[in-house]
Amino acid sequence: MSVHADVMRIAINDRSAELRDQLRERLRDRLARAAQLRCTEHGQPVVEVTIHGRENGWFDSRWTTCCAALERQATSIVKDRC
Ligand SMILES: [Zn+2]
Repeated sequence: MSVHADVMRIAINDRSAELRDQLRERLRDRLARAAQLRCTEHGQPVVEVTIHGRENGWFDSRWTTCCAALERQATSIVKDRC
């Protein structure tokens, strides 16, 4: 297994490339912290997150994780507004 298997994949969707870049920049630290998480039960990192930009800095996030507990931890870090 390569070390890259442990890197959380991040996809950011928004109406324009400019807004995508803004979202990525504003969420950089939070996403980095979410990527450091390890599930206490399964020892797994977050596999993937997809951010969908909405209006006025709000966004939706969709997570791929080993379980709901890890997803809750990740969501509490990244939240839903930047
Ligand atoms: Zn888990």
